[in-house]
Amino acid sequence: MTVEIKFCGAAGLVTGSSYLVSMAGGKFLIDCGMFQGTKTVRELNYDGFGYDPRDVTFALLTHAHIDHSGLLPKLYRQGFRGKVYTTEATKDLLEYMLPDSASIQEMEVRRINTQNRQRGLPPVEPIYTQEDVATCLGNIAYVEMDGWADLPLGVKARFWNAGHILGAASIELKIPGADGREVHILFSGDIGPENKMFYPAPESPHDVDYLLVESTYGDRQRQDTSLDARRERLRGEILKSDTARGNIIIPAFAVERTQELLMDLDWLMAQSKIPTLPLFIDSPLATKVTGVFEKHEKELQDLSGPHAFTGRNIHYVQSAAESKGLDLVKSGAIIMSASGMCDAGRIRYHLRNNLWNPAATVLFVGYQAEGTLGRFLQQGQKKVRIFGEEISVRARIASIETYSAHADQGELLAWVKARLPVRKNIFVIHGTDASRQGMVKNLTAHGIPLSLLVTPSIDDRFGLDTAGAAEKLGDGGARITRVEMAAVSDWHNDYARFVLDLAERLRGMRGAEERRALLADLARHVSGAVGGMHGRG
Ligand SMILES: [Zn+2]
Repeated sequence: MTVEIKFCGAAGLVTGSSYLVSMAGGKFLIDCGMFQGTKTVRELNYDGFGYDPRDVTFALLTHAHIDHSGLLPKLYRQGFRGKVYTTEATKDLLEYMLPDSASIQEMEVRRINTQNRQRGLPPVEPIYTQEDVATCLGNIAYVEMDGWADLPLGVKARFWNAGHILGAASIELKIPGADGREVHILFSGDIGPENKMFYPAPESPHDVDYLLVESTYGDRQRQDTSLDARRERLRGEILKSDTARGNIIIPAFAVERTQELLMDLDWLMAQSKIPTLPLFIDSPLATKVTGVFEKHEKELQDLSGPHAFTGRNIHYVQSAAESKGLDLVKSGAIIMSASGMCDAGRIRYHLRNNLWNPAATVLFVGYQAEGTLGRFLQQGQKKVRIFGEEISVRARIASIETYSAHADQGELLAWVKARLPVRKNIFVIHGTDASRQGMVKNLTAHGIPLSLLVTPSIDDRFGLDTAGAAEKLGDGGARITRVEMAAVSDWHNDYARFVLDLAERLRGMRGAEERRALLADLARHVSGAVGGMHGRG
């Protein structure tokens, strides 16, 4: 039997990273990530895997991010019983990240089922539960960062620092193929930028048969991201804030971004470049994850000092009651909380309590997806809804865009060039079609032949132990159209925006009569009595 690869996710989109390798004697997976983003994309999580998890012998995991690891518990729920091999730090992060992901699933399903009950629809099942997470966590084995590991099915694997987040690795594989031919592959995983805090620059071997490379920022070049430049920007934003009369609220992802910010703020305070302010970390997940960073402190660089994560003005907020207590802090504090895009979590309480205050600052340090509360604030909306309450936005809204865990276009190019020669093919994955096209253009402009490059679609299959280039064995099925549709636009977002605009318009009207007239007009459109698709000639 030949060695085959199937692109089960993160092909034509960024999330749902997962690749199935089939060979003599069995199958194994690289990553088993959750689809994240718009509702249309998230619906892919409820689909079948497209293979029987009981036929999979083992899995490899590049890093702990949920879009790479988040469907592992579902794999166990559906009968997988093999081991997941990854680095020790990734294993430690998963101990907290997977239970957190399960509670989010369970919460979402409770919400869907309340709606379904009201609409007379049958209930849906959660993608997985805490029980499935426990089974998964009991089956994770760790491998050392360097040196070859002997895995089942005669597969050999070597993990390399990818410089992306704690524990993140690129994975080099040697897979026994037909006629004694060995297939030598490198999976990039997610690649970090050159100046990433905590880790040395990414490392990996060169001279492989196949390279699979991510392309998240394949079409974007970032501004100066050196540690000093970034700290200077952060300092500027802190000094601009009126901390005598307001707080600084920082929505931050619990994993990696919180710890980077913590380190930068602690460093700026230690160097007296900003005033020493109390720093509250109000996210149970961020607190636990920071504990994992502390455990691995010896492997990290750029720390602001010994015990950097437990500086004396750093307060980890534990209970919900303690979090509520922060309502009484009206000024002079930096409050970091999750979720990073403000669509869930304790950050929403802090926004509710501080957005009205013109002396407060909300500082964004990460990407805000379309349709999230974070994006609405960045776009300058003057009114937002939080917990059903309408909040006037008077706080200063600022953004620093130089924090990133991903290599940009130039850094991806340099990483790929350092892997040459690649004997057979380079698969460009983990990017939208626009970012993949940008990356392909840039690679070919720098002398990498177009014939070497492949941009697979979701569910495509390729044979790998052929004498020449990879051979396409089958096209993806119906999911391709769904992924393409989701990439173009998501009507759910349009709908949410429309409802907000409508509410705004209605509030701005003088009286009930005028409001009723507008609603009646809309109702006529909806029932098709007016214009619509056919127009009025
Ligand atoms: Zn990642």
